[in-house]
Amino acid sequence: MAVYNPKSLKAEEFINDGEILETLKYAEENKNNRELINEILNKARPYKKGNGVECQGLTHREASVLLACEIPEVIEEIYKIAEEIKLAFYGNRIVMFAPLYLSNYCVNGCVYCPYHLKNKTIPRKKLTQEEVRREVIALQDMGHKRLAIESGEDPVNNPIEYILECIKTIYSVHHKNGDIRRVNVNIAATTVENYRKLKEAGIGTYILFQETYHKESYLKLHPTGPKHDYDYHTEAMDRAMEGGIDDVGLGVLFGLELYKYEFAGLIMHAEHLEAVHGVGPHTISVPRIKRASDIDPTVFDNSIPDETFLKIIACIRLAVPYTGMIISTRESEEVRAKSLKVGISQVSGASRTSVGGYTEEQREHDTEQFDVSDQRTLDEVVRWLMETGHIPSFCTACYREGRTGDRFMSLCKTGQILNCCHPNALMTLTEYLVDYASDDTKKVGYSLIETELDKIPKEKVRAIAEENIKEIKNSNRRDFRF
Ligand code: SAM
Repeated sequence: MAVYNPKSLKAEEFINDGEILETLKYAEENKNNRELINEILNKARPYKKGNGVECQGLTHREASVLLACEIPEVIEEIYKIAEEIKLAFYGNRIVMFAPLYLSNYCVNGCVYCPYHLKNKTIPRKKLTQEEVRREVIALQDMGHKRLAIESGEDPVNNPIEYILECIKTIYSVHHKNGDIRRVNVNIAATTVENYRKLKEAGIGTYILFQETYHKESYLKLHPTGPKHDYDYHTEAMDRAMEGGIDDVGLGVLFGLELYKYEFAGLIMHAEHLEAVHGVGPHTISVPRIKRASDIDPTVFDNSIPDETFLKIIACIRLAVPYTGMIISTRESEEVRAKSLKVGISQVSGASRTSVGGYTEEQREHDTEQFDVSDQRTLDEVVRWLMETGHIPSFCTACYREGRTGDRFMSLCKTGQILNCCHPNALMTLTEYLVDYASDDTKKVGYSLIETELDKIPKEKVRAIAEENIKEIKNSNRRDFRF
């Protein structure tokens, strides 16, 4: 039997079934242990250190106790601390992005995904480079600066060379004042050599959802194709890091397995990355299964209600305070609004989940990867965020200035976020308002920027930000950053 070892490079040792089962037992036994719970809550709280704020985070066992606890006052406290952590490290900034679907050709048999090989109802499509260009222009014309590219796994139709060519095309398009400045990549697990090529192509985060950490279920849910190999999939982030990618994004597809099991696995995966590579995941995504072509989500009997979903988000926030958290348009406006309060720091807007979706005359649902719940335009999402006290940020500065991996954490720890991320968010929001926003959104935005500029502590930084904002408004100069 495999023994638990977070430093091991073997999937079954760092995501160890025995340790997860022990954790769930420990959490169940201690879910009413107020003394222990108070200790865990205190450990999770942000505290001042020097000029900055720090957080210790929680182990998978500690975080699992909080997730198991059903005492209403404790849950309230979890939400309160989650909000404090979020404000300490991310302020009221929300990073914006959009997915770009390149190809739905896929040789895998994932039973929850409409791209599965045997789905004969979905038209198969792969973008040509000219189509990629047109999609990117459409995304730039909305105001997007950051994309996550998505593709099925098919070594013949979508080999790594195709993905690399698409990345090159995306970065090469500059329509009007438009620019895609960060391309994150969500493609199937691959080799160290291919991760190195992605790194050289200038990608931001490599994202790969584990789907489920439960090996037995994983094998059943991925019955055929290369994705069937649980170990190869689970060890992908180690290969990505070996290939030089500093920023990796984890995720679980909630609804496939029992959420408490997935939660423990997810936090153990983060601990493993920290133990082996000295840096945890850059982001964690929290997708839930949705209806799609040939997919009925009700056949998966582990779906979770909204309250549980929000509690999971808050507990992740407490466990891994320096990791960004992403929510997609799989979720409704209502759930997205609540999730922002308890930990989410990055949202997609105006997403099309079909291949070629951004240039379709009429919205076609037949090649969609999943039904989109939040169907608002980017302008509507941006205005909504601002009206609810957030700053939509189109900033991509960290990765372009080499602040990847643990260097982002040191930015948090030295208290420089308000002198760096905050002005960057305000300058990129100004770009959005000037170039793409409706008059109503402009009005809300410009007055928000006035107030938010006052929060920049260093006078010199504030003056430069004000100057740059003026320049953006009065000229075509763009892409200012700290
Ligand atoms: N093909 C790549 C892979 O296998 O990892 C990644 C791209 S896939 C387009 C992105 C993610 O969509 C998957 O990892 C899965 O979690 C999610 N997904 C698949 N089917 C879904 C569904 N019916 N509802 C919601 N999300 C789904």
